[in-house]
Amino acid sequence: MFPKSIRAPRTGSLLTAPARDHERETAMSIVYLIHFNQAYRHARHYLGLADDLDARLDRHRSGHGARLMQVVAEAGISWQCVRTWQGDRKLERWLKRKKAAPTLCPVCAGAKALLRAKEKNR
Ligand SMILES: [Zn+2]
Repeated sequence: MFPKSIRAPRTGSLLTAPARDHERETAMSIVYLIHFNQAYRHARHYLGLADDLDARLDRHRSGHGARLMQVVAEAGISWQCVRTWQGDRKLERWLKRKKAAPTLCPVCAGAKALLRAKEKNR
């Protein structure tokens, strides 16, 4: 009699995992711009840097990851992530120093914003 099914060994699917982990480590971070749907005091935007954007946005949604995002969550202000750039801490600092968030935000400045600080094609 033949067996009805043959189970693959449980560890079989783990063989490709190390290569993927390595790719993740060498990938560039994401600089992201968040627009608050209501201003918090004078703040209308948050600019941040994350390796895993989805995980970071989830943390912000629950009021973690940044002091400003915590008070915004506590104030019940909704927000949206309106732009992202591939980059690093240097790009984040450069964009923050310029205090250019309102002109880079498509919600505040319209479609023209997307022509500013355009991401280069790599
Ligand atoms: Zn905005």
